[in-house]
Amino acid sequence: MRRSQLFIKTRKEAPADEESKNAQLLIRAGYIHKEMAGVYSYTLLGKTVIDNLSQIIRQEMNAVGGNEVLMSTLQNKDLWETTGRWDDKAVDNWFKSKLVSGAEVGIGLSHEEPITNMLRSYISSYKDLPVYTYQIQDKFRNELRAKSGLLRGREFLMKDLYSFSRTQSEHDKFYEKVAAAYLMIFERVGFADDITYRTFASGGIFSRFSDEFQVLSHVGEDTIYVDEAKKMAINKEVYTDENIEHLGLNKGQLSEKRAVEVGNIFALGSKYSDALGLKFTDESGQQQSIIMGCYGIGVSRLMGLLAEHFADEHGLVWPANIAPYKVYLASLGEAAEVSKAADGLYEALSQAGVSVIYDDRDERPGEKFADADLFGLPYRVVVSQKSLEQGGFELKSRTSTSTEVVPQEKLLSILSDSRQD
Ligand code: ATP
Ligand code: MG
Repeated sequence: MRRSQLFIKTRKEAPADEESKNAQLLIRAGYIHKEMAGVYSYTLLGKTVIDNLSQIIRQEMNAVGGNEVLMSTLQNKDLWETTGRWDDKAVDNWFKSKLVSGAEVGIGLSHEEPITNMLRSYISSYKDLPVYTYQIQDKFRNELRAKSGLLRGREFLMKDLYSFSRTQSEHDKFYEKVAAAYLMIFERVGFADDITYRTFASGGIFSRFSDEFQVLSHVGEDTIYVDEAKKMAINKEVYTDENIEHLGLNKGQLSEKRAVEVGNIFALGSKYSDALGLKFTDESGQQQSIIMGCYGIGVSRLMGLLAEHFADEHGLVWPANIAPYKVYLASLGEAAEVSKAADGLYEALSQAGVSVIYDDRDERPGEKFADADLFGLPYRVVVSQKSLEQGGFELKSRTSTSTEVVPQEKLLSILSDSRQD
């Protein structure tokens, strides 16, 4: 991508109406645009980050047998009345709207009801099960406060998977598979396993607890108690003497931490399937209940947390798997031989499959360096008269302060070698 074709402009100052570091940085770097509090749009850079995150999540969800679907945002009121969740007293953060006829519709904040209802058209026998469906889709929630940038949106991107199993033990096995896949996802996106905790939490419908996935962070809204040695954690919401004892934990070994909930998984039993009449016939012809689970990950929240976590005083510092492009290539000065060499390198890198932003603009070097840092791509390559005199191109990784001049062939091999797909 040529920088001259990228419409975004970076900003030196953070917008005055943003309090959170993630939104300030992502707006300054041109990744996102604020529509209103808790509602953001994504530019090519931001969308590519979302796509990279989604791709990792998709790979792991496909690996456990998920079918990717895309459910509608508008939801049928009748279904939610059937499960008793339409009433604002039951769910207090719904956005709802009205059709021209006056009939009410819901604007999706979760999809247990519609997915269960949809599967009534496809599932009748034990041979049709188990079924695992997931989607990566915008959710809408009328959050009371939305001051944390992408960490808490009123419109945000979620991955939600729903499982439909024949027996409790079939469900339990799958539930543990998803929990393991979640830990893999968080590690792959850049959160090392020493800051990510599977955490006992409230919201258990069929089980005593739900399982949250919490990343330790001072910006977190959640308080959790962690046992580092046992690698266990318990959310403050369920931090009672009885639960601590039940989990075999010891108050003396637990330390209090702030954390961000990036995922949450629930055993639902047959609450939704029974209410909506989704059943199956077993081998002996008997009607049986279907055991469900639901499994969420906040995709846009993950992006916000990565921006919060991986940054320095100069800007973003994306983990390699998530960075929207791998290289920021900048040509300095007007000399024809510099442009020619930079054009050639851009071409060669693109052909080698290395993703590049090529800053071909007529801007001062300081401007280009500042943007390279702010964008947070893993590598910066500079082409200048000086670098050409020294026999090549100046290479610097985003996290180091030193540079080296390397000839084109070597540069290509370094940048394609460490390529992460
Ligand atoms: P929270 O307690 O933070 O409000 P939640 O428990 O209501 O979240 P879930 O219904 O468990 O959220 O949703 C699944 C996942 O979606 C959460 O683990 C979180 O990562 C993400 N998520 C939930 N609400 C938001 C939001 N308003 N903005 C961004 N991500 C969100
Ligand atoms: Mg939750």
